[in-house]
Amino acid sequence: METEKNYGGLDIFKMIAAFLVVAIHTSPLASFSAAADFFLTRELARLAVPFFFMVTGYFVLSDRLWGEGKDLRPIWRYLRKTVLLYAAAIILYLPIGIYAGHYKDLTPFRAIKMLLFDGTFYHLWYFPALILGILILCLLARFCSLKAGLAVSAVLYVIGLFGDSYFGLIADVPGISKAYEMGFVLFSYTRNGLFLAPLFLAMGAWLKRKGGKRAPVFNAVGFVVTFALMTLEGFVLRYFDLQRHDSMYFLLPACMFFLYRLVLSWNRKSVGALRTISTWIYVLHPAMIVAVRGAAKVLPGKAAALLVDNSLIHYLAVSVCSLAAALAVAVALARLRRPAFERDRAWIELDMAALEHNVRTLQGLLPESCRLMPAVKAEGYGHGAVLISRELNRLGVKAFCVATVREGIQLRRAGIKGEILVLGYTHPRQFDLLRRYRLIQAVVDMNFAEELRKYGKKLRVHIAVDTGMHRIGIESGRVDEICQIFTWKNLKVEGMFTHLCVSDSEEEKKIAFTKAQGEAFFRLIEELKQRGYECPKKHLVASNGVLNYPEFAGDYARVGIALYGVRSAEEDMMRADVALKPVLSLKARVASVRELKPGEGAGYGLAFVAKRPAKLATVTIGYADGLSRLLSNGRGHVLIRGCRAPIAGRVCMDQTLVDVTGIADVQPGDIAVFIGRSGSEVLTAYDMAEAAGTITNEIFTSLGARLARTVKPASSSAKRADAATK
Ligand SMILES: *Cc1c(COP(=O)(O)O)cnc(C)c1O
Repeated sequence: METEKNYGGLDIFKMIAAFLVVAIHTSPLASFSAAADFFLTRELARLAVPFFFMVTGYFVLSDRLWGEGKDLRPIWRYLRKTVLLYAAAIILYLPIGIYAGHYKDLTPFRAIKMLLFDGTFYHLWYFPALILGILILCLLARFCSLKAGLAVSAVLYVIGLFGDSYFGLIADVPGISKAYEMGFVLFSYTRNGLFLAPLFLAMGAWLKRKGGKRAPVFNAVGFVVTFALMTLEGFVLRYFDLQRHDSMYFLLPACMFFLYRLVLSWNRKSVGALRTISTWIYVLHPAMIVAVRGAAKVLPGKAAALLVDNSLIHYLAVSVCSLAAALAVAVALARLRRPAFERDRAWIELDMAALEHNVRTLQGLLPESCRLMPAVKAEGYGHGAVLISRELNRLGVKAFCVATVREGIQLRRAGIKGEILVLGYTHPRQFDLLRRYRLIQAVVDMNFAEELRKYGKKLRVHIAVDTGMHRIGIESGRVDEICQIFTWKNLKVEGMFTHLCVSDSEEEKKIAFTKAQGEAFFRLIEELKQRGYECPKKHLVASNGVLNYPEFAGDYARVGIALYGVRSAEEDMMRADVALKPVLSLKARVASVRELKPGEGAGYGLAFVAKRPAKLATVTIGYADGLSRLLSNGRGHVLIRGCRAPIAGRVCMDQTLVDVTGIADVQPGDIAVFIGRSGSEVLTAYDMAEAAGTITNEIFTSLGARLARTVKPASSSAKRADAATK
């Protein structure tokens, strides 16, 4: 199953590319052979920057500019980030540039040109070029197809070529060389956002949309051949001394095409950290060159000579320093980015490794033709609909169901991709929103179907079928009416579904009922087919269906609770022999600790009374956060410092008292775990549901908006899993 996009190859090659850029600026082989150095820095290393552009085109631009769900917002966000990074780099390099005498005769015109085209330090041209290139493609996308955009970019590239490696050819052609000279007044070279960036950005975008096929051998051969030819091209240009600047070749795009596809086929897990680190190696390495040179000045003669004069050692020293500095920045940024409120008061921790495990486990129970259509209604069962859906998207899930239009819109606004089915009633006033946000509507009964028809504009629908639950749906026997819906022009019937209502039960009668539901549904499908109405997607199983009746799997499995790693109740029937992993932990802080004398009461109604000397901890979570009041008076428990402690007295709106008598060393600031692990103890959602007399679904969906929702880093969960199996 295609749940994981493996872009690790791209991440690793970004690192390689970053070190190639370091090579361009340090000439590692210069001490040994001019030709070898030319090969390394003017041929091989010229693959680096186009690669960076292509990655951006691939991930940031392609689907947003030329996909079905055109959406510029992520692009603006990316641009803002790039501008910020550029600004930070300018500030960082300002003193170094002044020290190096870069800005000696700076006129306002030059300053602006520098800011817009060349960057304020020799390597920073990349950022304005990236920004300009993206803007050009956004503009192109408004007026032309991806292919045409590619063609326009290619023309710009060819124009750029003659201001770069091929300048010698046109230098003597009066009119043209004049035009180029004028261009150079504006931008020092033509390897910039106007001439170089658009083509590689567009190529990245094109590869994402059209070039997904991966044939490693073909690409490897293609790369080797085109790179060999490009090397030849470079050496010929060098021999005839035609280059004004040597970064653009006719064969470079062809070479990049094969290289990028080759790297794509390198199937490894994505490593986000590598992307950050390679970016910072790029930004910081010139500063490290200055630093290494500076260090050489203060070191004793011989060491200094080695550091600067031996080009290879110089390169290695700069590379190591750049890597170290980039790592330091990446770590510092990761710290800074952590939201301020994350683990301060009361919060949910999501274990995305567990979610991934559940996705794979549940998909594993189903035939290949049945895809997951997770239920992320009710804030993703309280977990956080956007956080969960994003992760599911990342895992390759392409269909979701929600209960309301509003929930669907929330997902679309967060950039969630794929089909979104609204399972419940929608007011006709909101039908426009269904269209605007590309949502699919369930047809809840014949009356509602009539409303949908009256609306007149095109709508995508799945027909709900009532096979015995009697909640929503058109009764499965009313074939004529269902056929009618198929004939209505404005309704595009993309699916049909029913819902099983006793698929959790081992009782023979209930099992028979469930089977009858399934049969009624498939009989209807068959009947429709005979009358010539083919319905593309059929679905009936939810969590219990997947676990107990996988033979009913149609095209989708609308898994909810099981995806979050539990079932509604622990004693529910489960035929499948699988272990799901809970995704959610619920935690809060100890705010205050106090001692009570025997006979003293605590909390509203003084419902808690100390029988002996007692110690109470006040914990920063209450029923407004979703901690049920039914857990009052010792029915619910908490883990503090790895020990179980009962809830004391009545749960308040924002705070809860816990009896921590006998637990040593409880301090303000300690973490109180309501669902999850503390030391070797675990409290499950089942424990809480049972104590509150309900099912886990209600426990989860009650969790309040005031809770912070945080993602537990995958590495720490892996470590914990290790510890648990030891
Ligand atoms: C909520 C819901 C689901 C998901 O149910 P789980 O038991 O949580 O898997 C599936 N289908 C429909 C129609 C639902 O309303």
